[in-house]
Amino acid sequence: MRYFEQQLGELSGPKPILYASYSKVADGDGSQGGVLPKQIFMHWDRNDLEKEVEKSEFVEKTIWFFAHEVAHLYQKSSKGQIYAAENQSWLHEGGANWFAANAILVLYPDKKEYVNKKVERYKEHCVKGLADGPLIEAASRGRFDLYYTCGLLIHRGIELAAQRRQKQQENTYTIWKKFRHEVELGAPSELSTFLTVVENETSKELVSTITNMINTRSSEPPSLVNQLFDEM
Ligand SMILES: [Zn+2]
Repeated sequence: MRYFEQQLGELSGPKPILYASYSKVADGDGSQGGVLPKQIFMHWDRNDLEKEVEKSEFVEKTIWFFAHEVAHLYQKSSKGQIYAAENQSWLHEGGANWFAANAILVLYPDKKEYVNKKVERYKEHCVKGLADGPLIEAASRGRFDLYYTCGLLIHRGIELAAQRRQKQQENTYTIWKKFRHEVELGAPSELSTFLTVVENETSKELVSTITNMINTRSSEPPSLVNQLFDEM
């Protein structure tokens, strides 16, 4: 939380409470999380948590999971959470994931390989998923998971493009703060506002790559994702 505070400013009021729960179910290895004002929820469904906690992979996943949920707490403005509509959830879910990756890279530098491998896996997952339809339809086709993976890639691409153009001055948080500022000035908390900020910080071309990725069922999603990666 201190890390996100340094990037995005303090949360007002009392510190949030973390609720963590575990259901020992016969089969399953799922987890779900969420936030409400001042509350973070983390839940696991599995049958082997006692053993699983000893594995470094589980610990890494849990750090990521927690960082993602905490990041959501900081995705708020004086007017409430700045989330996009459900079919544009890559904006906040991908953002929370990229914030989580950054937090881990800074706080646990020895986890760099874990983060890098995850980003590579996300790329494969996103490319495969986009071959079946555009990102904007992911929620309606039951592929909400693509918002997490493609979303991280988009935010990462934006950050690197902005850094290249602004010579390291910008990062994912400065861009997010500009978005937040626009919302606080009265702009709608939606994608159009975010992309206007992104265009100012990067280029028209990058924004059109992103919009293509979101809206078109492209026969070449890999090339769109690769264009984003080229920014890196
Ligand atoms: Zn989330």
